[in-house]
Amino acid sequence: MNDKNMIDEIIKIKEEKGIKIFAHNYQNYEVQQIADYVGDYLQLIEASKESDCKAIISCGVKSLAETLKTVSDKNIVMPVSEAVCPMNKKINIDELVSFKNMHPQFTIVSSLNSQVELKAISDICVPTSKAVEIIEKLDSENILFVSDMNLGNYISKKVKNKNIMSWTAYCNIHDKVTKQEVINMKEKHPNVPIIVHTQCREDVIKLADYAGSTSQIIEYVKNLKDKKVIIGTETGILHVLRRLNKDKKFDLLSPSLICMDMKKTSLDDVYRCMTDDTGEIIKIDEDIRLKALNSIDNMMKYL
Ligand code: SF4
Repeated sequence: MNDKNMIDEIIKIKEEKGIKIFAHNYQNYEVQQIADYVGDYLQLIEASKESDCKAIISCGVKSLAETLKTVSDKNIVMPVSEAVCPMNKKINIDELVSFKNMHPQFTIVSSLNSQVELKAISDICVPTSKAVEIIEKLDSENILFVSDMNLGNYISKKVKNKNIMSWTAYCNIHDKVTKQEVINMKEKHPNVPIIVHTQCREDVIKLADYAGSTSQIIEYVKNLKDKKVIIGTETGILHVLRRLNKDKKFDLLSPSLICMDMKKTSLDDVYRCMTDDTGEIIKIDEDIRLKALNSIDNMMKYL
């Protein structure tokens, strides 16, 4: 079956079965094309609450599917169960529990894109776009931020009067971008703004014209007058930016900005998941889900 016919079939089956497709901003173009919602974790959580669908096909990494299952009583299906965020894999939950027991004065703040087991032992989750704002308002003076240490470092520079420690995990994709790549790009395109993700390293962020989460980058670019923009986050966001800004041209800051786990889901995987039940139905132990939900609910109080 060619892509055109497959897309038509997917649209037909979605309607027949009451399914919605949720895709993260970093998904492949063809998956974004057939998605009902494309966004970051927070936007997809909100969409899952608004949607009256019977089931959601979650196209992203496992922590996205788990997040949607944590907040929703709908069936959540993941087309490719091997798509797991490498940063999440670096976090040893037992070590974190030990830290928590030994340092009860620390509030554990985890990224919304963390795995469900991490959310379950956290006091509160934060989306990248609101991390600074929420952490500033927390009562606790001692914060342990997990998962991305580059983002943790960025937050610690912005939030004054708090002792912020970061757990030593990071996103391989954003961490690989180098200061030299920014310098080279500035030399090649001196008047073009360079926009990077806050999961990049500090020296990269310092040289960039703006740093933000995916949703902040999308909003910032929308308001730019420049007709050409260089983007320093995962390449999938270029599809979103090109769709929303037909008058602008985008280049990627570094060829390393491709997350292979975000790219594991193909159109064919989504189709087979709908027709042959090949996907993974997300199941979470109820005790863990409720604890993780508590961290998300605590976050929601600040939004
Ligand atoms: S881009 Fe980074 S944080 Fe996002 S899924 Fe890939 S490795 Fe994980």
